Amino acid sequence: MRLLIVEDSTELVAMLRPLLAAAGFTIDHAVSIEDATLMLELGSYAAVVLDIGLPDGDGRSVVQAARARGDITPVILLTARGSVEDRVAGLAAGGDDYLVKPFAPEELIARVQALLRRSDLIADRPVTCGNVTLDPASREVRTGGAPTILFARELAILEILIQRRERVVAKAQLEAQLFGLEGELGSNAVEVYIHRLRRKLAEAGASAQIVTVRGVGYMLAGPVA
Ligand code: CA
Repeated sequence: MRLLIVEDSTELVAMLRPLLAAAGFTIDHAVSIEDATLMLELGSYAAVVLDIGLPDGDGRSVVQAARARGDITPVILLTARGSVEDRVAGLAAGGDDYLVKPFAPEELIARVQALLRRSDLIADRPVTCGNVTLDPASREVRTGGAPTILFARELAILEILIQRRERVVAKAQLEAQLFGLEGELGSNAVEVYIHRLRRKLAEAGASAQIVTVRGVGYMLAGPVA
């Protein structure tokens, strides 16, 4: 699972990296708000570990902006300050948990794992983009309230696009999603299933559409308000 750590102390990240790797996490590292914002828009993370004290400002602005975009990636905030006011402000900005420095790496790992379990539960709620709704529990897709029948690979693609709606999903990530399924895959599998999914959504009268972001991947976008 991929984690984004936003922290300007490279020593701290160097110390955490092997421990998180041993716990099964792959780490991407951002050192500023600017970096983190870009990486969150382009990448897909299971969770974000976010330092509040960053060189270009208050790290809480990263989670605030992410939530404003509809990004529900779980975020754990790190801070040297542990006052009640700080804690409340961090959670009010959209953070899911809070850890005061210095902390034991084992505690960070335990909290990240707890957040991931919680976000799995949250992910069971139906997700909507435009008039398209996916119920992750039943894997039922509805367009304008009517059932839309999709094959497994079309559904696998829609699942990831709608969970990350209004954000670009890298083509490699969609490929990874397809490779988990049975059977042979051609080199243009993603294009093929995107094409079929687009056609089915259009036929069903979907107000959401799959946008191609050249050289990067695809995005499910709702109607422009
Ligand atoms: Ca810092």
